[in-house]
Amino acid sequence: MAPDAGVALVTGASRGIGRGIALALAARGWNVVVNYRGNTEAADATRQAVESAGAACLLVQADVATAHDRAQLLTETLARFGRIDLLVNNAGMAPRQRVDLLEVSEASYDEVMAVNLKGPFFLAQAIARQMLMQPVGAVPSRIINIGSISAYTASINRAEYCISKAGVAMLTALLADRLAKHGIGVYELRPGIIDTDMTGPAKAKYDRLIGEGLTPIRRWGTPEDVGQAVAAIAEGYLDFSTGEVINVDGGFHLRRL
Ligand code: NAP
Repeated sequence: MAPDAGVALVTGASRGIGRGIALALAARGWNVVVNYRGNTEAADATRQAVESAGAACLLVQADVATAHDRAQLLTETLARFGRIDLLVNNAGMAPRQRVDLLEVSEASYDEVMAVNLKGPFFLAQAIARQMLMQPVGAVPSRIINIGSISAYTASINRAEYCISKAGVAMLTALLADRLAKHGIGVYELRPGIIDTDMTGPAKAKYDRLIGEGLTPIRRWGTPEDVGQAVAAIAEGYLDFSTGEVINVDGGFHLRRL
């Protein structure tokens, strides 16, 4: 572990956006805790890439939806690094089946809400408490939640996902208000259509929509795009902002005529 380097915990960092974030932080000298749910092979590839960038890396398998695993994640992080300076609540899932909202099952609703909203809420709660207890570090403490354009865009075939991301928006506002007096900045990054496993099943549809001009910037987003935005916050370029929503969406959010 490099002296004076911050310690970042990135949930869901084995693949996709989380991996992009982990690598962006590693490239800037952060020590990175790479959390994942079950894909050990992918997690190990992220670890190797983080270490190749010269950063220290801890892999922790933990399901953010369960209290036991969240506690274990914190315990293992502190055992290795002794502190935590940046939490990136990135882990998330789409519904296992996209179905019309009139057909959504309680099981799917509960699962998506537990991973995308309950997990981030209680992880942020636990880590904010830790941030308040630990000695002041070389970098200020910060929390970043990965939301989605789905927070305000109705997709009637994945209602539970949209509701969970709308909740993440309020989670960010609440944490920002509560933690500002302790010097902890809280931010939401709101990705648009990003090229990952999650969007794989809808690739042809998004290729078409992007080609037709759905987004003013006519390309897919990448995990690196989101990683760069996290890096800007982690490097302290937004320190007089908190509760801010940063759209990383190729301009999708613009109202156009
Ligand atoms: P992805 O490619 O499906 O990767 C999901 C990651 O989250 C994997 O590392 C996975 O671990 C982990 N994960 C899933 N459930 C978990 C759990 N219960 N506990 C711990 N880790 C868990 O997804 P992505 O596209 O990178 O999405 C990352 C975040 O960005 C999500 O919050 C998503 O909602 C959000 N987002 C994505 C897009 C997009 O277009 N892709 C757009 C807006 C927002 P394993 O590898 O072990 O399964």
